[in-house]
Amino acid sequence: VAAELATLRDLPAVTTDGKHIPLWVNTGLIADVSRSLERGAEGIGLYRTEIPFMVRDFFPSEYEQMQIYRRQLEAFAPLPVTMRTLDIGGDKALPYFPIKEDNPFLGWRGIRVTLDHPEIFLVQIRAMLRANEGLGNLRIMLPMVSSVHEVDEANNLLDRAIAELQEEGYIIERPSVGVMIEVPAAVYQLRRFAKRVDFISVGSNDLTQYLLAVDRNNPRVADLYVAYHPAVLMVLAYIAKEARRVGIQVSICGEMASEPGGALLLMAMGYDALSMNATNLPKIKSTIRSVSMKQAAELLDMVMGMDDAVKVQVVMTQALQALG
Ligand code: PEP
Ligand code: MG
Repeated sequence: VAAELATLRDLPAVTTDGKHIPLWVNTGLIADVSRSLERGAEGIGLYRTEIPFMVRDFFPSEYEQMQIYRRQLEAFAPLPVTMRTLDIGGDKALPYFPIKEDNPFLGWRGIRVTLDHPEIFLVQIRAMLRANEGLGNLRIMLPMVSSVHEVDEANNLLDRAIAELQEEGYIIERPSVGVMIEVPAAVYQLRRFAKRVDFISVGSNDLTQYLLAVDRNNPRVADLYVAYHPAVLMVLAYIAKEARRVGIQVSICGEMASEPGGALLLMAMGYDALSMNATNLPKIKSTIRSVSMKQAAELLDMVMGMDDAVKVQVVMTQALQALG
């Protein structure tokens, strides 16, 4: 298996008709980085910065964060490393920053928390920018955005951090900035986001839960949480098409890209890059290498006409079996 992985690592993620699909990884701990490089990842599509925060007893300092981020950036340079600003609230708690709410998934989460605490946001952004000094492969991504004013505020804070650091003598470049599309309201504002940021990335885990009104962690309704739900597929296809129309790069970093069937459909929809957990990357790569864009488009066409997820699942399972 190890030899097979090594061979696959050096082979490109291209379809049989020559289309390259960049495969990125989702990381959190430094250990994820070497595993990802061993598997041939072409970048980090989602670095969950809350993970190093979760394993500590208090907020890491700017210097401490800078060192943590530098390791991710350095390991992948010059490949892109997409760092998401702190995404706490919902199901992600920091022991030293308790949030008590009746409806945490509809509450104080992600960008809502950090814009209310600009001191937390600024320290984190400064640490990212300093870590990127001399490397230049940092991309910054904003979680749980529902309105453009949040993007404007975040951009203003970023500009402020850059200006301050430059004044302090650091050589700082403005990195690419992106918005996560994981709240349904964000889906319908792509043109406005495209005027403000450089890329979007779909968080299909949250987008699915908010679209279907199904808690992603509640076992009682787990069978209602389905990636192949016709409404989910419609929204994902719409996002890719609309992103193309308004001219913004679009990737996906939810779990759907870690499933061979999901990856095939997403690539047919027109996603520019797929980000996934490192464990599944080799499997996704060999799936991509076994199929043409034409076949993937035909599959997508077929499943978009289906009226329930179970039928889609059957068709996808058969198609994957036929591909070997
Ligand atoms: C998502 O919501 O799809 C996502 C990638 O972010 P997280 O799973 O960390 O909420
Ligand atoms: Mg999310």
